[in-house]
Amino acid sequence: MRYSGLKVIKEALTGHKGWRPTWRNPEPKARYDVVIIGGGGHGLATAYYLAKNHGITNIAVVEKGWIGGGNVGRNTTIVRSNYLLDGNGPFYEMSLKLWEGLEQDFNYNAMVSQRGILNLVHSDAQRDAARRRGNAMILNGSGAELLDAKGVRAMYPFLNFDSARFPIKGGLLHRRGGTVRHDAVAWGYARGADLRGVDIIQNCEVTGFRIENGKCLGVETSKGFIGASKVASCVAGSSSRVMEKAGMRLPIESHVLQAFVTEGLKPVLDGVITFGAGHFYCSQSDKGGLVFGGDLDGYNSYAQRGNLPVFEDVVEGGMALIPALGRVRVLRSWGGIVDMSMDGSPFIDKTHIDGLYFNGGWCYGGFKATPASGWCYAHLLATGQPHDVATDFRLDRFRHGGMIDEKGQGAQPNLH
Ligand SMILES: Cc1cc2nc3c(=O)[nH]c(=O)nc-3n(C[C@H](O)[C@H](O)[C@H](O)COP(=O)(O)OP(=O)(O)OC[C@H]3O[C@@H](n4cnc5c(N)ncnc54)[C@H](O)[C@@H]3O)c2cc1C
Repeated sequence: MRYSGLKVIKEALTGHKGWRPTWRNPEPKARYDVVIIGGGGHGLATAYYLAKNHGITNIAVVEKGWIGGGNVGRNTTIVRSNYLLDGNGPFYEMSLKLWEGLEQDFNYNAMVSQRGILNLVHSDAQRDAARRRGNAMILNGSGAELLDAKGVRAMYPFLNFDSARFPIKGGLLHRRGGTVRHDAVAWGYARGADLRGVDIIQNCEVTGFRIENGKCLGVETSKGFIGASKVASCVAGSSSRVMEKAGMRLPIESHVLQAFVTEGLKPVLDGVITFGAGHFYCSQSDKGGLVFGGDLDGYNSYAQRGNLPVFEDVVEGGMALIPALGRVRVLRSWGGIVDMSMDGSPFIDKTHIDGLYFNGGWCYGGFKATPASGWCYAHLLATGQPHDVATDFRLDRFRHGGMIDEKGQGAQPNLH
């Protein structure tokens, strides 16, 4: 079913009886060309681009829960292309360009809103670092503007300029960054893949791999064995647990990241702001709630829920930046498990097992990567070669010193 303005009008006039389920609910076949494990944003985008770009449609996306129940539906919806290093910059710029045309491409309203992201700076050294990053962004075609304190005050007069613990000295403005309605991204890709013949199999957990003579023959699941020529893992926060079943130990730790939403307010914040002196970032949703988040839990965990100490830390940062936040009530909070790699950058690669592929290590920033990740993973699966913008996302990069360490934190995942 194609969506259009005319269809909406027709359905409005005829009692909304003509809408059909957005994707089928098939039982798994015995065998597929490609089985993708994980029906998050990345898995669904991979299926979509495999079908659309490469004509491979005999695909199953096997999801243990439901579409949109993982991090793709838990994140704070920010998309951006503000990277410094060569290994990352062109990849995220490609992703942002795909976001810019995504709704027309998959004919689904994902509320792509390029409302601008402002990274605040609070010291001269931080301004120098922002200038350097901004120059890299301009070279990558992402665009960047360095604002002084006056420029920031003109945009957001309610920030704490006058009695601030961390005075605001300016900010790096990325006008093309913004937000996208996160679960609509999963639904849009799911619908686009389903229309092309991809089987999306929900409530089906992958419990193991069938590997013989160094070749992966398929996956064991809660609905039985599913054979496949290629198996593509794409399970984000569950990466270590799933790949362990294939005998692999990954350079990834899992940590919980929390998000928070306040009661609805009149429009006060038309862009995204990030605090430069603590862990706090904020935007306002279309329903009016302030959506904010902050730091990871420092300890490793697979628990998909948050806790109070991190909440206090995040709110402390928020109050230092926007004192008026203290008057607003928080309505909801939740946690998601993020797959933190040792250098803060991702993997899109073959494994040492023939026919088994891996996509993960997206840390707390994989939502913005969804289109390019799907595009590049599909390219790798279809052609056997890494895509030009993803050549550095290799599993063996730590062995030969090819880290992509944007923050210079070394092998301390909780700090990336
Ligand atoms: C609170 C929070 C805020 C965030 N904010 C942002 C942000 O603002 N911007 C940004 O770019 N990124 C953000 N992220 C990160 C981003 O959400 C993730 O990096 C990204 O969504 C991960 O990819 P995914 O969508 O494919 O993951 P998921 O949606 O988690 O998909 C993985 C899927 O695999 C399934 N799965 C796991 N194990 C199995 C199994 N054994 N068998 C079958 N299926 C399985 C899971 O159920 C899940 O549905 C945030 C994350 C969190 C938690």
